[in-house]
Amino acid sequence: MNKYRILLYYKFINIENSEEFSKEHLKLCKDIGLKGRILIADEGINGTVSGTVEQTEKYINQLKRDDRFIDMIFKIDEANDHAFKKMYVRHKKSIITLLPEDDVNPNKKVGKYLKPKEFYQMLQRDDVVIVDGRNDYEYDIGHFRGAIRPNVSNFKEFPKWIDDNLSKYKNKKVLTYCTGGIRCEKLTGVLLDHGFDDVYHLEGGIVTYGKDPEVRGRLWDGKCYVFDERISVKINNTDEDIVISKCTHCGEESDRYINCTNDDCHKQHICCEKCEKEQEGFCSHNCRQYILEHPERDARLRLKEKANMYKRYNQNHEKAKEIINKLDKNYSA
Ligand SMILES: [Zn+2]
Ligand SMILES: [Zn+2]
Repeated sequence: MNKYRILLYYKFINIENSEEFSKEHLKLCKDIGLKGRILIADEGINGTVSGTVEQTEKYINQLKRDDRFIDMIFKIDEANDHAFKKMYVRHKKSIITLLPEDDVNPNKKVGKYLKPKEFYQMLQRDDVVIVDGRNDYEYDIGHFRGAIRPNVSNFKEFPKWIDDNLSKYKNKKVLTYCTGGIRCEKLTGVLLDHGFDDVYHLEGGIVTYGKDPEVRGRLWDGKCYVFDERISVKINNTDEDIVISKCTHCGEESDRYINCTNDDCHKQHICCEKCEKEQEGFCSHNCRQYILEHPERDARLRLKEKANMYKRYNQNHEKAKEIINKLDKNYSA
């Protein structure tokens, strides 16, 4: 078990000929056999990749041979399999995107970094305001206790949201956090630009906080959303681990995000195991109806894919078997 690893890493550094570099990088990743998603721009690199222990070590060593990435920090998660289906390297204008008029350079302007233990201590002060640096749907399955929920579904919306909602906190210390730390590199700069003077962010992000041997994720409630096939990971490794989100259908506690069985909807929604069975993974009555009325939109492929996911991540072997049995029954000619 745990023969695979998932790497999460980024660095803001000027990359010359970044388009050319992206092409070479894709070749490197494919040659090694990695899968994942990497963004490359003039301003730097931001990636999540999965592979065997051997493959990921080879990749890390290869990158560290390059002076630009010699001090890049790789966050490592153990896994049973790849966390992606394919290998993508995308060349973009930026690795964290803001509107041109809002953009900041983290190498020139950035908040103060806090180690997990320092962040934990700051969380408990009275003169701080805690701001989640991620999207609303990420906040909904887990966040730091007492954090403000940003009403944004895209990072670009943050500057306006800050102006509309945070002005009253200008006399406070602002604490921000995000999954691996990269979004806060720009978010803290935006806060400084918008008149906040005392701005802090969690070094290494939520995933590092969960692994810190002293804090072990304490004061984190729920799960942490991740942008790969795992969908979410555990952070709070203390006796305080709780579920904070509710099933869309029945309202019972649940932190399972699933995609709607209707591929034309594909909405990610929180759904408990019982309701997923009863509703067959549809997010709503309308989606179920839509599939009944559009037999060409047969949900078979989607169900099959789901069964594979369950198996892969050991979430529920029984459920996987059940789905496969149902597939055989419903679709055998
Ligand atoms: Zn339910
Ligand atoms: Zn739907």
